[in-house]
Amino acid sequence: MNNGESEENVVIRVKDLKKYFELHVGMFKFWGEPIYVKAVDGISFDIKKGEVFGLVGESGCGKTTTGRLLTRLEDPTAGSILFHGKDIARLKGKGLKDYRRNVQMIFQDPYESLNPRFTVLKTVMEPLLIHGIGETYDERVEMVIKALEDAELKPAEEYLERFPHELSGGQRQRVAIARALVLRPQFIVADEPVSMLDVSIRAGVMNLMLDLREKYGIPYLFITHDIAVARYMSDRMAVMYLGKIVEMGETDEIIFNHLHPYTKALISAVPVPDPDHKHGRVEIKGEIPSPINLPPGCRFWPRCPYAQKGLCDVKDPPLVETKDGHYVACHFAKKFAAGEEVPEKEVATA
Ligand code: SF4
Repeated sequence: MNNGESEENVVIRVKDLKKYFELHVGMFKFWGEPIYVKAVDGISFDIKKGEVFGLVGESGCGKTTTGRLLTRLEDPTAGSILFHGKDIARLKGKGLKDYRRNVQMIFQDPYESLNPRFTVLKTVMEPLLIHGIGETYDERVEMVIKALEDAELKPAEEYLERFPHELSGGQRQRVAIARALVLRPQFIVADEPVSMLDVSIRAGVMNLMLDLREKYGIPYLFITHDIAVARYMSDRMAVMYLGKIVEMGETDEIIFNHLHPYTKALISAVPVPDPDHKHGRVEIKGEIPSPINLPPGCRFWPRCPYAQKGLCDVKDPPLVETKDGHYVACHFAKKFAAGEEVPEKEVATA
């Protein structure tokens, strides 16, 4: 999907990417065809230089698997991941190691992702040793100090000998950011990087990430379940549902002119601190279906208030461009865009 971006601006281009996990549990392994969990099922998007691209959705929608595919912590089942035009989806050996130097991941839980027996110095220096960067120990210490200061842990020398348990949650996440930065990556995947932090320190970490994007022009894939966080962080965003992108576009366009019923429901569920605000809340029914047993047609139809029998429960809507760079996967996207009435209907029982 080109999104009208000039080729040289595109850092990551994902095309029809799929990740199916084969189930090997219980009776499934004895009978019939293998059973797959379609965690990511044919998604395409670009991320350009210096851009924060938000990936939003409920847990189980495939957003974390997408991040793990882009960092090649998972091997894709099909599709391509072009990094500066070169397909890295099936890289192995030295090629994969070189790619991993350029692409770093920041995880949700900084306590889990930091080795409790490593000091801050050892934690941030480890990637330099793995990739053979820095001629001497002193040179590497200098790089660690620079990365800690970039992550606003100042004076850095005060943190070098501390262990993770001696740091606050926010400081631990800043160490994780410094560890990602020390390699001067060309792309960062941040998977729910603020969701485990206290609200009071979230803004500081989010602002730090935006400052670093400004300073170094590093593009991010920013994964979150929280559409308000995605709005604050992202230039563009994609909404995922059960392994597919259902809506994608400029962040303001998605927030203010969203067309997909699932995006409407996500946005209408965000609390507004104004007692007089009338929400027009879009209710969706039931729970997210199992990715092992996906509904036919549009995956959202069992929960969608607009689902039409004989269409939505039969035919999977493709992701189509409704206007410049705004993509929607819904049979009624053009009607919604034109402001035409689509009556809420009951469809066949899910
Ligand atoms: Fe709802 Fe049908 Fe659109 Fe799917 S295609 S989101 S079921 S109206």
